[in-house]
Amino acid sequence: MATTDNSFNGMTEHCEECNLDTLHEVNVQIRTESLKKENAQFSREPYRVTECQRCGTRSSQRMNNA
Ligand SMILES: [Zn+2]
Repeated sequence: MATTDNSFNGMTEHCEECNLDTLHEVNVQIRTESLKKENAQFSREPYRVTECQRCGTRSSQRMNNA
């Protein structure tokens, strides 16, 4: 069985720009949000970032919706 552990992390998702279901690269980024010092406890937020491999459009979505 082939393993995909270190290979391209792709998913087929709908792209608004292409108006198609296209291959997207999916990554999770931890973004440091340091604009507001009083909210230091919320300073690191995980975002799910997808990039359309057809048109290059990126979109990011905060994973903590609480
Ligand atoms: Zn696209």
